[in-house]
Amino acid sequence: MRTIGLIGGMSWESSMEYYRIINEAVKRRLGGLHSAACLLSSLDFAPLERMQHDGRWDDIAAELAAAARRLEAGGADMVLLCTNTMHKVADSIRDAVSIPFIHIADPTAAAVRADGLVRVGLIGTRFTMEESFYVDRLRSVHGLDAIVPSAADRDVVHRVIYDELCVGSVIDESRARFAAIIGSLASDGAQGVILGCTEVGLLVGPADSPVALYDTTRLHAEAAVELALG
Ligand code: GLU
Repeated sequence: MRTIGLIGGMSWESSMEYYRIINEAVKRRLGGLHSAACLLSSLDFAPLERMQHDGRWDDIAAELAAAARRLEAGGADMVLLCTNTMHKVADSIRDAVSIPFIHIADPTAAAVRADGLVRVGLIGTRFTMEESFYVDRLRSVHGLDAIVPSAADRDVVHRVIYDELCVGSVIDESRARFAAIIGSLASDGAQGVILGCTEVGLLVGPADSPVALYDTTRLHAEAAVELALG
């Protein structure tokens, strides 16, 4: 079994999900007492979140690249960055190591394509929904057309992620608002919706959506297990 390297803590609420999903997948595949070989470099999110909102992406890239190098030095055979937003600096992390870096959008898009969809909704932080780094990869590498919520709905999603989900608050009222936002995306032609934030699966599930949901946390974690077990 290859060792899975995780850069986490952004937030730790979602890193716990990665750990659980990875171990459940290994157990499903190998049975018995098998569990995943993995290394977690868990970072303090508070200063990193401030850097995001101050636009200090070069400093973020340096910190995350250093974390990736520590994982490689510690024996990891691959690196996962356990947040969609921080994939804005994915190239810096990939270039910092010689082991494979699994980009979170890739297994996600592969699952969407496997279901035969070409037009998806995308919900995540404002960075993920509004900047080009994520939507462009979906389009140019995977041929997917991504649509995002209205400006007012993007504000709601962004606020709920940072003020609630990343601090462990899962609130019914927010679930209802997310369900309405997902419903609007479906009405606008989304054939499925990408949960493009690693905490959003803690809030919504299939019962909250008229179309298929693609949870980046689950798909990313399962792709790592695929690579780990070969
Ligand atoms: N975990 C989130 C994501 O997937 C948000 C936290 C962050 O900004 O890294 O985008």
